[in-house]
Amino acid sequence: MNYQAILDGQKAYFNSNVTRDYQWRKQQLLQIKKLVVENEQQILAAINADLNKPAQEAWTTELSYITGDVDHVIGKLKKWMKPRKVRTPLVAQPGKSFVQPEPVGSVLIMGAWNYPFQLVFAPLVAVIAAGNCAVLKPSELAPSVSNIIAQLVPQYLDKQAFTVVEGAIPETTALLELPWDHIMYTGNGMVARIVMSAAAKHLTPVTLELGGKSPVYIDNSANLAISCQRIAWGKWMNAGQTCIAPDYIITTKDMVEPIVAELKQQITAMFGQDPQQSDSYGRIVNERHTSRIAAYLEQQNVVAGGNVDIENKYIEPTIVVDAALDSAIMKEEIFGPVMPIITVDNYLQAKDHIITEDKPLAAYLFTKNTVQQQDWIHTISSGSQCINDVIMFNAVPELPFGGTGPSGMGQYSGKTGFDNFSHLKSVLKRPFLKDLPVRFAPYTDLKFSLLRKIR
Ligand code: NAD
Repeated sequence: MNYQAILDGQKAYFNSNVTRDYQWRKQQLLQIKKLVVENEQQILAAINADLNKPAQEAWTTELSYITGDVDHVIGKLKKWMKPRKVRTPLVAQPGKSFVQPEPVGSVLIMGAWNYPFQLVFAPLVAVIAAGNCAVLKPSELAPSVSNIIAQLVPQYLDKQAFTVVEGAIPETTALLELPWDHIMYTGNGMVARIVMSAAAKHLTPVTLELGGKSPVYIDNSANLAISCQRIAWGKWMNAGQTCIAPDYIITTKDMVEPIVAELKQQITAMFGQDPQQSDSYGRIVNERHTSRIAAYLEQQNVVAGGNVDIENKYIEPTIVVDAALDSAIMKEEIFGPVMPIITVDNYLQAKDHIITEDKPLAAYLFTKNTVQQQDWIHTISSGSQCINDVIMFNAVPELPFGGTGPSGMGQYSGKTGFDNFSHLKSVLKRPFLKDLPVRFAPYTDLKFSLLRKIR
């Protein structure tokens, strides 16, 4: 594939203004929905082949997530595309001022493997809503999904505006050399630095959706049964390979035993006595990642689970207590089905720990204490937060999604996604009425004092 030729073709098409049209955008969005609905079984099978993801989980977090997103965006698109009026000060009167969102051109979308379908199509929905073209680069670590995306996109979407490039590091490196109008990357911080360096050569803006260690603090006022059910769902969904999964629990010593007991009960309730036999439990993406996660368990106090079958990419839902803060499990993003629980004396100590670490993608608090809830919201910096739940902010289309600091930059979802892939152009429109002379030379004391008054 000649990537430069693809980009040149997209730029020419973009400059013909076809993609700016509301009807074109709406039509492409509807085609995405059609693509998902008509190929549901094939897509679910591909996701299952790559991650052994249960159909219900894949449907909820990947397929219906996209169709719901399309419905939401189509419902609002006309409004988002309209000029956004702002006040015009006296000095610029008479005149009308507004922000006119405009598409940027061609966007490179690089997806990650853990939600291999959703992480390509959710950015694409926002990119289309904003009126852009795109090249899609699905993750090579989920080859079945990459393959089906490459097959389906040209069947459903405008070929002049959208191309899928499959491949790994050499292909991505070559794509990154080109002057995109925006790059959207989902993945790890190490590659994000490569992406940002490449983008810097062309001053291309980037959106980086990264990860991190998302903490959960639980205090003794929380309803433990409900908290642990929600936490267990968020941690062990997709075998822990979710960027906003709770990474570890931080709590007081008295809470460890009851939390472990509740979590164990939840694991059995969700996945049975032997989760390896459960149709509801996923697998790790490959043997390399399975070994990486298994290594976190060495020399740790495993109080639940701990069984590993590298060949079958299986790691049992596992709980570790008293992990040392300088051990790998507490230093790196786990991105697997292992839950460490660490202890502190109180809420303030927990907060101290969290704010001295990298800003996480999500931060979760379980408490009835409304003072603590307010404090958490106002003093803990993270991409997103839930109070008394995990992950579910992602089910709210009007909430922006994205990290802060090392967990990412830029946001999407709903209107934020539309704005993220638009340039918000400022426009001042004026009639040919004679201006007040104050702004024009020659400057005089009178003009100066008048100018001070009208500003
Ligand atoms: P990955 O290995 O699939 O990489 C993502 C993309 O980067 C792929 O398209 C891949 O081809 C490309 N890539 C990999 N190495 C490259 C290189 N050296 N040069 C250029 N391109 C390269 O995904 P991953 O990084 O293993 O994903 C896991 C990480 O992603 C976790 O940290 C997770 O938290 C994060 N994540 C974040 C979000 C989010 O929305 N914030 C969502 C999912 C995953």
